[in-house]
Amino acid sequence: MMEKTVVGRFAPTPSGRMHLGNVFAALIAWLSARSQGGGLVLRMEDLDTQRTSSTYAETLREDLKWLGLDWDLETPPQSQRSAVYERYFDRLKELDLLYPCYCTRSQLHSVNAPHLSDGTYVYAGTCRNLTEEQKKAQTRLPAWRVKVPDRLWTVEDMGQGLYRENLATDCGDFVVRRADGVFVYQLAVTVDDGEAGVTEVVRGMDLLSSSPRQMYLQELFGFRHPAYGHVPLLMAPDGRRLSKRDQDLDLGALRQRLSPEALIGSLAHTAGLIDKSAPISAKELTAEFHWEKLKKENICIDSGLL
Ligand SMILES: [Zn+2]
Repeated sequence: MMEKTVVGRFAPTPSGRMHLGNVFAALIAWLSARSQGGGLVLRMEDLDTQRTSSTYAETLREDLKWLGLDWDLETPPQSQRSAVYERYFDRLKELDLLYPCYCTRSQLHSVNAPHLSDGTYVYAGTCRNLTEEQKKAQTRLPAWRVKVPDRLWTVEDMGQGLYRENLATDCGDFVVRRADGVFVYQLAVTVDDGEAGVTEVVRGMDLLSSSPRQMYLQELFGFRHPAYGHVPLLMAPDGRRLSKRDQDLDLGALRQRLSPEALIGSLAHTAGLIDKSAPISAKELTAEFHWEKLKKENICIDSGLL
């Protein structure tokens, strides 16, 4: 656990080379922490052991160093933390907040209303009140859901302003452990950030709607809420969201044609942090960084990067 007043974090998934969007989110996480004299924790999010590897993890570390984004401590990867997650899972059980869910994927999609923002559904609570007999009659292994309260959560986001969600109506009871025994992202992230003493979570906009679920778990586990900062997504000049398929924009390709300072300067300029596009190091950029300068809406990248 880090004892600094401000502790940020990098939490990459080692499933391939960083693409420009990952670089941008990591840069802002680093700038936010370092501009306040804070520390940074690195953690590999490798719950999906099929898609991730230690080779990719090593490349990620090397890429972060090339960018000039250093960290103070690396905590164990999620794939090694099942026993820890199990303890927190048991705590939810003791609080009588867990129940087994036997719904199949197709049942979930037909019964539940579509979710507003991220395409997932609002779970209708189908399995919340099954009797012991009904549970015994099931033939498949259950996933485990945590009961959510009917209460409004407010994220005072450093990047996006206020974001509100009532988990009961906007999300429903959510899965914390899959039927195959694997703990889900929401639980793992909450435990890892909480135990590492992370005080600010800076990441891509697509994870904003995860924050209320994590705030709820933080409360149940006795962790303080971190500050949140969700950074805009990067789009191609034609308005398309960048993805892993844009291989010419992964860091392997970018490193062959740009210096770290040229890449950071271009990103900082399109994001609103500096007035003109000129090479700058991450360290020099800390003096220019303020959350108020950062654009809120999706950012079209400079065509010079393509
Ligand atoms: Zn169910």
